[in-house]
Amino acid sequence: MSKLAGKTALVTGASAGIGLATARLLSEADVRVIGCARRLDVLRPQMDELPGPTLSVQLDVADAESVADLMTQLPPEWQTIDILVNNAGSDIGGRRDFHEGDIAEWVNTIQINVSGLMQVTAAVLPGMLAGQGGHIVNLGSVAGLSGVRGCAAYVASKHAVHGLSDTLRQEYAGRGIRVSEILPGMVKTEFAKTRFSDADKGDAFYENYGLCLEAEDIARSVLFALEQPPHAVVSQIVIVPDNPG
Ligand code: NAP
Repeated sequence: MSKLAGKTALVTGASAGIGLATARLLSEADVRVIGCARRLDVLRPQMDELPGPTLSVQLDVADAESVADLMTQLPPEWQTIDILVNNAGSDIGGRRDFHEGDIAEWVNTIQINVSGLMQVTAAVLPGMLAGQGGHIVNLGSVAGLSGVRGCAAYVASKHAVHGLSDTLRQEYAGRGIRVSEILPGMVKTEFAKTRFSDADKGDAFYENYGLCLEAEDIARSVLFALEQPPHAVVSQIVIVPDNPG
């Protein structure tokens, strides 16, 4: 039997890419999965196909009011969250030097990747603290470790996720709440399509990049972190494609 069997996980950004792959692996590990995303029409059929019980919730993590209501909107039997995977993220308008970009898009990236992650965590954490404890897994990025030209807002957001994850891990250590951060390099998902608001440009970006990770590679890292015994916390996993230096 899976070490995680019977637990309940909430995964943000579960309608595509890493979030969907993570929801799938969790469900295959007998975890009850609450998948959240803005596009309910895309999310629900994918959640319905997973092998175990799932719930599909329409949620914009950057919408503070909706996130504040998140827990009370869930059916009572879904309100005890053991695992939170803060995965929702984007870089709309990215891959341009700072002055060439749209400041509203840069700020939006911060709102989704940082404020959104903080708001969802603030909604879920009190229940974990009051009850059975829990495990929070944040999707950072190698862009949270150094600068990347053309991605100022995204880099800033992932540096924030890196600092937040490390700080939350320290604050809740020994209190039944573990915090892990996964920092992937390039993963082939819908991310580039969203970044450029253009599917063809997104495909071309990955083709030109070379070897990329798959969403399932990252999902396996999430599961690895979650499956450690209670006395061990995986603080960070950096996972990159095996590209020559
Ligand atoms: P993706 O394929 O574009 O999927 C992004 C997911 O986030 C979608 O399910 C999207 O669903 C959701 N989302 C976006 N904005 C949202 C919002 N405001 N509220 C709720 N959900 C939202 O991207 P991905 O590659 O899987 O990325 C997932 C995470 O991994 C992100 O945090 C990203 O920064 C990180 N990451 C990705 C890479 C990479 O190379 N792909 C590398 C390192 C880290 P809806 O559109 O339906 O809302």
